[in-house]
Amino acid sequence: MNQEDKFKNVISHAKEYGFVFPSSEIYDGLSAVYDYGQLGAELKKNIRDHWWKNMVQMHENIVGIDAAIFMHPTTWKASGHVDAFNDPLIDNKDSKKRYRADVLIEDHIAKIESKIDKEVTKAEKRFGESFDPVMYKETNPRVKGYVDRIKVIEERMKRCLEAEDLEDLKQLIIDEEIVDPISGSRNWTDVRQFNLMFSTEMGSTAEGASKIYLRPETAQGIFVNFLNVQKTGRMKIPFGIAQTGKAFRNEIVARQFIFRMREFEQMEMQFFVKPGTEMEWYAYWKNERMQWHLDLGMPEESYRFHDHIKLAHYANAAADIEFKFPFGFKELEGIHSRTDFDLKQHEEHSGKKLQYFDPEENKNYVPYVVETSIGLDRMFLAILSQAYEEEKLEDGTERTVLRIPAKLAPYKVAILPLLKKDGLPDKAREVINGLKGAFMCQYDEKDAIGRRYRRQDAIGTPYAVTIDHQTLEDDTVTIRERDTMEQKRVHIKELSGILHENIGA
Ligand code: ATP
Repeated sequence: MNQEDKFKNVISHAKEYGFVFPSSEIYDGLSAVYDYGQLGAELKKNIRDHWWKNMVQMHENIVGIDAAIFMHPTTWKASGHVDAFNDPLIDNKDSKKRYRADVLIEDHIAKIESKIDKEVTKAEKRFGESFDPVMYKETNPRVKGYVDRIKVIEERMKRCLEAEDLEDLKQLIIDEEIVDPISGSRNWTDVRQFNLMFSTEMGSTAEGASKIYLRPETAQGIFVNFLNVQKTGRMKIPFGIAQTGKAFRNEIVARQFIFRMREFEQMEMQFFVKPGTEMEWYAYWKNERMQWHLDLGMPEESYRFHDHIKLAHYANAAADIEFKFPFGFKELEGIHSRTDFDLKQHEEHSGKKLQYFDPEENKNYVPYVVETSIGLDRMFLAILSQAYEEEKLEDGTERTVLRIPAKLAPYKVAILPLLKKDGLPDKAREVINGLKGAFMCQYDEKDAIGRRYRRQDAIGTPYAVTIDHQTLEDDTVTIRERDTMEQKRVHIKELSGILHENIGA
């Protein structure tokens, strides 16, 4: 199955089993807005809890807050979002489709990169074991030509974005003969800047109303509370403040399911450090965050770092953790060294000092900040697309299985009475009652046992416990493992221990 088909199947599976629905679907949905269903809400909560546990519970020097979505409008002036949270957009006059100019160019670069990959694969076959891909890329004239061309495009794009030279950005698209992916046309409008913040009004009368924004990132709620938390929590630098919550962006190009939404959730942590130590901490958090993904059992080859070509106005270093989604490697998480930009801006706009007194140095300073920022919905999509498998079994049948990491799975265990009679359902209820305080359990007595196993595979339940006639005699049950489909007979008393051990909290 190719990746495009797989992605389609993942989306319809997500809908069919109650993970993700289009928002207000009965009215034909709302573009780039989604609702999480009964299983999606569990999976999302589990990812959020797992992140929180790892960041807050496991780090003595990180605490969490929950700031409001609405903030004083000056916040967004100070942060630069009112003036600079723009995307350069371009329309194709024939297809009437709108694109982000930088994304069009990046996709074009990705196409050249795939040409390089093809050449390398071909050469690998030709030269066999003695093949050295690095040397080949440096010496083969055609490949070297591609590499140099990418460099030129990247540098020109970076210059255009930094200088806001929208004319030359358009010219770059024309010079590179970039076509509309839908119509194949090169009939482009000029590039314009488009602010991504949603606004609304606060106040009971139109005259008294003041324009406020729906936060486009959760980070600013942390910055404005920096001193509140530092003082009341008696925090000593280096320390972090974590937060999860909704963010809103009026994305120009909103597609690829829950990858790019207009309402989404972020999980962010701002780590406050002594100025001059930020690069050490930047390296530390890059590593820590990558490890978090790998510790979940996600495959290493699905991840890579991507250092930013164009740094945001607030950053002195920035990298993305990219994940191999079915539509290619794309940003999943950002690690940014934000310097003292935000706190200084808020000092300036509020007239309040946002400084830390360092007892070791015996002086005040504005701390530097290293941020880790991951989209919860993107992590959800990463998990789902990694987990989804249409597996051919040895007996020739097929099953769809979601190999969701056990600790994130919506249900941990399904309790299945073999028959709907002979007291087996009552015994199954007894087993569920013993487990449901600690684990999300599902009871299912409908259909043949094989079909019930398949249903649990399809929603990613790591364990299924079957209650049969022998259970009534000796209190033993069969426990079946989702991935291996292996079954073994254990005592009811052992279940809780087995689940604790294999699922982890
Ligand atoms: P992109 O380049 O994809 O627009 P970004 O660089 O603007 O993303 P950040 O501002 O660094 O993203 O936001 C941090 C994280 O929030 C991203 O890594 C991503 O996981 C998530 N995120 C950002 N925008 C969206 C969105 N529209 N929908 C879902 N998640 C998002």
